[in-house]
Amino acid sequence: MHFTRLRLNGFKSFVDPTELVIRNGLTGVVGPNGCGKSNLLEALRWVMGENRPTAMRGSGMEDVVFAGTNSRGARAFAEVALSVDNSDRLAPAGFNDSDTLDITRRITRDAGSAYKVNGKDVRARDVQMLFADASTGAHSPALVRQGQISELINAKPKARRRILEEAAGISGLYQRRHEAELRLNATEANLERVGDTVDQLA
Ligand code: ATP
Repeated sequence: MHFTRLRLNGFKSFVDPTELVIRNGLTGVVGPNGCGKSNLLEALRWVMGENRPTAMRGSGMEDVVFAGTNSRGARAFAEVALSVDNSDRLAPAGFNDSDTLDITRRITRDAGSAYKVNGKDVRARDVQMLFADASTGAHSPALVRQGQISELINAKPKARRRILEEAAGISGLYQRRHEAELRLNATEANLERVGDTVDQLA
């Protein structure tokens, strides 16, 4: 599986529909300061299911929608589409019936995000798992944002550990453990209540 095309529409500074062809081998993005190079990397993360606005340098996810300039009005939605070559048929089951996968994410102001794969509605989790199974995704350590290397060098040990854990892909496990602990606590509380009721009936 490899990325072949990225299309943006209304995403951050890419107000007009823009298409980038990603050929095999190394791709370089060059341009003056502020022309949108980082926005491109963020679009890639975003379409793969990034759900932290801070990773998009925003305070809310709707901040990715073109906000308008003196000469152009704000847009109501942003859309990013990523085409993936699946001719080796390595996509996970359920997505493996075509040579190309078109993954689309659209966010509409006040209506949140919607995802599609080859035109069919899917959940965010389906898209995240699709890329996770292909050993990539929004949190892939292969996507290195600007400043991340110096952050790593200058970070305090605890923060550095968090960065390394994210790169190792285990921060999701902490989240799952936390959720499991909450469920366990709730179950223990229920058990205690059942015990009290049994005691009263005895
Ligand atoms: P540098 O080389 O300085 O790091 P860059 O090429 O990576 O710059 P980006 O940081 O990707 O540039 O793009 C910044 C530009 O994107 C700024 O001009 C900013 O105003 C614009 N921008 C970011 N979010 C939005 C938005 N929601 N609507 C409109 N423009 C936006």
